[in-house]
Amino acid sequence: MSSKLGLKHIQAIAPYVGGRPISEVAREYGLDESKIIKLASNENPLGMPQSAYDAMLVAANDLGRYPDSNGFELKKVLSERLGVPTDWVTLGNGSNDILELAARAVAQLGDDIIFSRHAFAVYPLASQAVGARSVEVAPKASYGHDLPAMLKAVKSSGDKAKLVFVANPNNPTGSYLEPQEIEAFLLALPSHVVVVLDEAYNEYLAPAQRYDAIAWVKRFPNMVLSRSFSKAYGLAGLRIGYAIAQPELTDLLNRIRQPFNVNSLAQAAAIASFQDSAFLQKGYEVNRAGYLQLTKAFDEMHLTYLPSAGNFVLVKVGDDDQAGARVNLALLKRGIIVRPVGNYGFPEWLRISIGLSEENIAFINAFRDILAK
Ligand SMILES: *Cc1c(COP(=O)(O)O)cnc(C)c1O
Repeated sequence: MSSKLGLKHIQAIAPYVGGRPISEVAREYGLDESKIIKLASNENPLGMPQSAYDAMLVAANDLGRYPDSNGFELKKVLSERLGVPTDWVTLGNGSNDILELAARAVAQLGDDIIFSRHAFAVYPLASQAVGARSVEVAPKASYGHDLPAMLKAVKSSGDKAKLVFVANPNNPTGSYLEPQEIEAFLLALPSHVVVVLDEAYNEYLAPAQRYDAIAWVKRFPNMVLSRSFSKAYGLAGLRIGYAIAQPELTDLLNRIRQPFNVNSLAQAAAIASFQDSAFLQKGYEVNRAGYLQLTKAFDEMHLTYLPSAGNFVLVKVGDDDQAGARVNLALLKRGIIVRPVGNYGFPEWLRISIGLSEENIAFINAFRDILAK
């Protein structure tokens, strides 16, 4: 008899490995924390907006009380701006929470959850946690999601297919799907299958790339649109995201979420941040400039990288499957934290989050130096 505790499908989960915290890297390599540059978790290099900080200080006076379980004020602001009723909104403890809620609401042991290879690491985790089988679909040659192939996979799963995760843009590839591709997919998807459209990086899309995902939510009752305050809104440490879906699905998500899944500071900060269009615009411009800065350097170094619609770039740093780990270690020793992506099937690559100009320069200089050796 096995002495192992717990469920088999839970034992099989490989825990999520995030970007290394600055304090940990400082301790391990004997570095000065203040000199470390972290370009590893797609955080906003501007930090949090002052407006959100100020709103949080006010909200801090009430921390002796439970948060508003229904997030009335924040849902009101989201609902007015996005043009959907408040009972179409679910708040999450980060959009991670939304992804998990969706999996728990619609799939269980023996079901299939479909997503692309090289897609966001939380999709297999959320699938395994409910005992569903992860159906990983081969991407296009460009590493972007192959939606027609994903549709085929859904159809061959038949009644077992319960959920599809689609990320636009995707992390870590930065790949972007044209709205026409997504719409064709939504139209062809069997109505018993739920699709989560994960738009954690939506705010970084160039004007020509933008599209109206809310209009799809209005047309497709089996769609959940997931957005985050962690990236462009600068609130990664607070853990807050939201979902937009029609009432039937929203009701399911709200039944299984923890009653107080979003704390009061996060709710207050999100309201301020969501309304701070100057901060969003500045972040967008910093990101554009940083993208050009990094990719120009990669071009000069004759390195392969994937065009990115997000706030990060995936760059190939060598040809052997230790290359990513090797260059990552050399960067860490110089106090620069980036993201190895071997777990995403990219052992020869690194993912670089776009930072402030001076952070990008420090990274480029160290990187050039390391690769020249
Ligand atoms: C960062 C990220 C998220 C979730 O971030 P939260 O901090 O939980 O809101 C979701 N999807 C993708 C693709 C991401 O990269």
